[in-house]
Amino acid sequence: MAPRPLIAGNWKMNGLQASAAELAKIMEGAAAVQADLLVCPPATLIAPFAWRARESVVAIGGQDCHADPSGAFTGDLSAEMLRDAGATAVIVGHSERRTYHKETDANVRTKALAAARAGLTAIVCVGETRAARETGQTLDIVGRQLEGSLPGNAAALVVAYEPVWAIGTGLTPTTDDVADVHGFIRKRLAARYPDVGRDIRILYGGSVKPSNAGELLHVDNVNGALVGGASLKAEEFLAIAHVCR
Ligand code: PEP
Repeated sequence: MAPRPLIAGNWKMNGLQASAAELAKIMEGAAAVQADLLVCPPATLIAPFAWRARESVVAIGGQDCHADPSGAFTGDLSAEMLRDAGATAVIVGHSERRTYHKETDANVRTKALAAARAGLTAIVCVGETRAARETGQTLDIVGRQLEGSLPGNAAALVVAYEPVWAIGTGLTPTTDDVADVHGFIRKRLAARYPDVGRDIRILYGGSVKPSNAGELLHVDNVNGALVGGASLKAEEFLAIAHVCR
């Protein structure tokens, strides 16, 4: 049986206290949706959102964490701090972190390990650049990222396939291409984690919106979505979640 879908919203560096109104709408609509919902607001909103969502089915997550539990790392947040603020999950290895903060697969792996240490689900992101896609290297790149970024233990793990060229561009791969990459990731997970690899959720991310969610979310081995821009509006986020059945 396919795992229950997860629809995760990555708000990136968007959202102020007033954005609690969007969270309230998401919480209101959540009961009618056949998917788990996760909202990852900026760090400043994790604690107030987790408090507001404490009696709802909507979970709150972080967008990144440091590998260490505490220490002299100005401006960083540990997985334990996210957990303490009420988060239950954290995105690690998003392509914007890999690009702008030069995060390597090894860094991502230590962050995924930190998430597990703190009791958070790690959403590990992988995905190829446009150049890699155009030169036929997608599976090599994704395979290498999985090899280097995944933790040894898969107790609370989600993988997100996010082609870099599809993030925020309005472009998406064909459903055949999504099926190929997700099938490839599934095989790698099954080989790496023989007990649970078939049940790990693999999210698709990159320009998911209500108008394309139906076709993208019904591809084999797509167990939900990581949504950027369209997660900022409750109506759009819920409309995406509504395609899950
Ligand atoms: C993302 O950044 O994780 C993402 C998928 O963004 P968007 O949906 O805006 O392409």
